[in-house]
Amino acid sequence: MAPVVIVTGGNRGIGAATVRLAVSAGYAVCLSYRSHAEEANELVADLASQGGRVLAVSADVASEAEVAQLFAQADSLGPLHALVNNAGILETQMQVADMDAARLTRVFAVNVIGSFLCAREAIHRLSTRRGGKGGSIVNVSSAASRLGSPGEYVDYAASKGAIDTFTLGLAKEVAAEGIRVNAVRPGLIETAIHASGGEPGRVSRLKSAVPMQRGGRPEEVAQAILWLLSDAASYCTGSLLDVSGGR
Ligand code: NAP
Repeated sequence: MAPVVIVTGGNRGIGAATVRLAVSAGYAVCLSYRSHAEEANELVADLASQGGRVLAVSADVASEAEVAQLFAQADSLGPLHALVNNAGILETQMQVADMDAARLTRVFAVNVIGSFLCAREAIHRLSTRRGGKGGSIVNVSSAASRLGSPGEYVDYAASKGAIDTFTLGLAKEVAAEGIRVNAVRPGLIETAIHASGGEPGRVSRLKSAVPMQRGGRPEEVAQAILWLLSDAASYCTGSLLDVSGGR
């Protein structure tokens, strides 16, 4: 039976590249999306036409009830093997001096609480202490956790700092339960997320600050995620893997 992986925010960007690579690696995939149902359904149809087993579920990761539904629907694919906590948001570039509580609440609810809630559901299914067979969780953090994103989105960077700490702590907490927990920290990757910050051309503006002098492709991040998920990374847990062109 194909191993089952849940990829949150799997309809586009890094998540969609991860879904595609996971299907080609033989996983059955449950992807979640929040708002872009059409993209999610097109991706599912495309992969299904190539023989992939893929399910798309609408679920806001910041909602405890919707996360529970996401995992319940994924159970229909078979026993869970892995989770990729990829869903994430950033908001319009601004200084901390101008940020209000509503914005901070949204960013931390999706990026941090959403990752905790999904990890909790995964642990319930994977933990050998709870009758599971073990498995792997990959959190999608960001190089922003090291760089701080001044003048753009310090709130987002801080939420990714929380994901790094979450990864380190959870990895130690569940290591003896057969679950590996790691993170990737992408740098400047060519996706639509930069447009949500109000600067679609951000990668072009900043790429000269990257030692490799270019932005990364979602597929390059997906490769790192799939490696961390796989048995090839069997002795890696609590690792924060930079995929950032040297920045
Ligand atoms: P993206 O293209 O904007 O995709 C974000 C994904 O998250 C979408 O699938 C979106 O679903 C989903 N999402 C957003 N809010 C959600 C919620 N409340 N519940 C469930 N899903 C939600 O961004 P991306 O660049 O691929 O980013 C993916 C991850 O990589 C994020 O965690 C991001 O912080 C991280 N990252 C990106 C970069 C970069 O340069 N691109 C760098 C470092 C880290 P809908 O489309 O349906 O709204």
